[in-house]
Amino acid sequence: MARETPDIQENESANEESLRMVSSAPIGNEPVSDEELRPQTLSNFIGQPRLKAQLQLFLDAAKKRAVPPDHILLAGPPGLGKTTLAMIVANELEVPIRVTSGPAIQHAGDLASILSSLDSGEVLFIDEIHRLPRAAEELLYIAMEDFRVDVMVGKGPGATSIPLTLPRFTVIGATTREGMLPAPLRARFGFTAHLDFYPHEELERLIERSSVVLDIKLAQGSARQLSLRSRGTPRIANRLLRRVRDWAIVHDLGEVEPDDVEQALALYQVDSEGLDRLDLAVLDAIVRRFDGGPVGLNNLSAMIGEEAETVETVCEPYLVREGFLVRTPRGRVATEKAWKHLGIQPPDDVNKLF
Ligand code: ADP
Repeated sequence: MARETPDIQENESANEESLRMVSSAPIGNEPVSDEELRPQTLSNFIGQPRLKAQLQLFLDAAKKRAVPPDHILLAGPPGLGKTTLAMIVANELEVPIRVTSGPAIQHAGDLASILSSLDSGEVLFIDEIHRLPRAAEELLYIAMEDFRVDVMVGKGPGATSIPLTLPRFTVIGATTREGMLPAPLRARFGFTAHLDFYPHEELERLIERSSVVLDIKLAQGSARQLSLRSRGTPRIANRLLRRVRDWAIVHDLGEVEPDDVEQALALYQVDSEGLDRLDLAVLDAIVRRFDGGPVGLNNLSAMIGEEAETVETVCEPYLVREGFLVRTPRGRVATEKAWKHLGIQPPDDVNKLF
């Protein structure tokens, strides 16, 4: 049912993040292969129980009232299921969905032409909505509130604006940076959901579901091994599962044992905690070269030969979240967990450094 406006997918392939096995952004042709693993209904969407219950109520009420639901904002890091939920909402409401993104809309006029061609009840999904140009944002507030768009006719002093009434529709905005959305735009959403990283148990269920779709037989404990390496992120879990499937095919395995998961992912340098080569290089430099820190971002990046921005945006969030690294005003400090993960005895005062 999805109708795509041209030029939709933001090209994220040109940065370092997209080269990593544990990247939370899509890599290669994943946007296509992700499709087969997308659940179509809310009941097949794994985890996030509170959000699902809220959304179910919200959709049931709209269906009972026979009106399109209020606009929905989905906020959270990449790969946690925002696009999937948008598709599910349209599916549950049995309405078409139009897909676009902030970066794909360069001028307010691009958005005006999408809005003016929406059918009654249609869902308009705007990915990366925080990246809409300012003029498009302003046009969107009005359209979301008053179901009206002002179309400019002519150019120069003779130009006039003609108000065009739109049918009722539902905007679903997705953002990885909710804080960057201007307050007036945020206020137009009647329902805002925050997606969190998934606990291991939920990822295990997700991996088991995906293994059925991908026709791969996992032995007891294999889904667990995969979930521990997936950084709380469904997209990474599905990616690692596909690589394990390659391993199973090449080695003619009827069933994948936990040991196979370990060997297959070791080949891709993803370790038991989901850390890859770059994460380990960061920890190794802090521990061995800087005695555990504190060390400034620039010194650290120079030591491992990476851009400071890559270290800060690509490695650090996960390392901090998992308690391997602490950011202090004096710089980055490795925790006891980091020393032990590298197999090095931490100094007695390791916890006093932060
Ligand atoms: P986002 O839009 O937040 O970047 P996506 O919705 O594209 O993330 O999800 C990435 C992949 O993970 C998709 O293949 C999707 O099927 C899968 N996925 C995400 N969340 C779930 C979930 N809760 N249950 C099952 N699969 C999921």
